[in-house]
Amino acid sequence: MNHDVIINVHSVIPVSRINGPGKRMVVFFQGCRNKCAGCFNPETHPFIRIAEYHPGTIFTKFYRPGIEGLTVSGGDPFYQRRGLLQLLRSAREDYGLSTVVYTGFEYEMLAASTICRTIFSYTDVLIDGRFDETKIEPTMLARGSTNQRLHFLSNRYTEKDLVMPGKIELIVGPEGTITQTGFSKVA
Ligand code: SF4
Repeated sequence: MNHDVIINVHSVIPVSRINGPGKRMVVFFQGCRNKCAGCFNPETHPFIRIAEYHPGTIFTKFYRPGIEGLTVSGGDPFYQRRGLLQLLRSAREDYGLSTVVYTGFEYEMLAASTICRTIFSYTDVLIDGRFDETKIEPTMLARGSTNQRLHFLSNRYTEKDLVMPGKIELIVGPEGTITQTGFSKVA
């Protein structure tokens, strides 16, 4: 394992039910230049140091037994490709987790890169494309806008697995903190 890779993480939700199939750990990377108008997570845009972890440490600190998979979102994970690759590889090989990755980049553009093709080999579902606030997803599909495409890169899931039980999830932490996640916002 490559121990020199560090991921700058915005936040981690150990267990979410609306960021992909089943219960999932969700890792939000810090940093994005894609500038989608109406982005739900503008605080993840600056390329500033928030919390730096070795990929393995993310599991040590946040993994909860019983989860089905790992979802990586952001920010945009493809600004930290080496870390993304190691995180996905560890999810699949060390923990037997499925993997879902969100990106504002388009699949075809990423596929021109060797490391991205390797990342895809450890990705079950890639949801690509910029969020478009004029095309809000009206159904419970796990995407923000209808222009974003679901690429099933393995045979583990189909589209029906990406239908979520809700649009918004409020998670109450041990000290009463409330974390909001999902594909809409509470006003
Ligand atoms: S790619 Fe994601 S984090 Fe970046 S601006 Fe677009 S919606 Fe926001």
